[in-house]
Amino acid sequence: QFEKVGFIGLGNMGSRMAQNLIKDGFNVTVHDLDQNAMKIFSEKGIVTKDTPFEVAETSDLVITMLPSSTHVLDVYTGPNGMLQNDSPVRPFLFIDSSTIDPQTSRRVSATLSDCSLKEKSDSWEVPAMLDAPVSGGVLAAESGTLTFMVGGSEEAYVAAKPLLLSMGKNTIYCGGAGNGSAAKICNNLAMAVSMLGVSEALALGQKLGIASSTLTKVFNSSSARCWSSDTYNPVPGVMDAVPASRNYDGGFASKLMAKDLHLAVSSAKEVGLECPLTSHAEKMHLFYIRLKRVYSLDMCDCAWDQISLSLHP
Ligand code: NAD
Repeated sequence: QFEKVGFIGLGNMGSRMAQNLIKDGFNVTVHDLDQNAMKIFSEKGIVTKDTPFEVAETSDLVITMLPSSTHVLDVYTGPNGMLQNDSPVRPFLFIDSSTIDPQTSRRVSATLSDCSLKEKSDSWEVPAMLDAPVSGGVLAAESGTLTFMVGGSEEAYVAAKPLLLSMGKNTIYCGGAGNGSAAKICNNLAMAVSMLGVSEALALGQKLGIASSTLTKVFNSSSARCWSSDTYNPVPGVMDAVPASRNYDGGFASKLMAKDLHLAVSSAKEVGLECPLTSHAEKMHLFYIRLKRVYSLDMCDCAWDQISLSLHP
């Protein structure tokens, strides 16, 4: 159904997701502000375009994978954006996989509903939009094992599912526009808070004389078991092949965690909900980033370092 796929945002995640689509035989056209990112694709014979508008002109479906809300607004509604005033739109489906706030996802989706299609599809009178952020980092993007949480019309979700499964192993439909983005920031705030909780408990356990590996075994067969205890343990040496056991190299950066926590804090403010744990977790990440002045350190380094520093000043 989607013969021509546009892909905008060829960074750590997007470049790998686009490669998986190409591997699965989709006819992909790409764009990024970074010429070097585009060169990697043009050298493999993939068509590159200079602006988001030019990508939209030649695509049935466009996927965006951008750093933040401002970049998404720029690519959709900016001067060279895909939705230029009074210009009919060619793609009949837009999928934004960036991690952004649900309010912006809903705004872009509403802007899109005002646009008309250049070539009407059988299924939709107006172009459809899905917010489909992902869980899983660069390794999952590379191996095509991401999880997509998807907001938008269910009909569009069903149509997009086979394409999403070229880049991921799970897709979860979360409801109307913005609900994919809402699910993503709620997932990450729960992960950030549980990571801090696991770090604090393991640090206290050490002080009380229990080895972290032993306490982790207890957690993993008891009620404290979670992703931070059984998959991404924050204490060096407890698990193999996790960032904590390679000097916190190459994991989910504290800068990205701070960004996601900030999205959750702002969204909570907008709906008038107090989220004290989220605000505290955000402050801890920001403090750590300032303290270390190194952005690429892993978020479990941040959690473990902060807690163990406060327990062993
Ligand atoms: P990145 O910074 O590596 O890549 C973003 C790309 O977008 C860059 O190549 C940049 O040049 C391009 N870009 C920025 N503005 C643009 C514009 N106006 N037009 C065209 N291209 C533009 O980021 P990433 O790590 O690939 O993350 C992308 C998104 O995925 C973010 O929202 C992030 O929060 C989310 N995410 C990242 C991870 C991860 O582990 N890296 C995991 C899950 C979700």
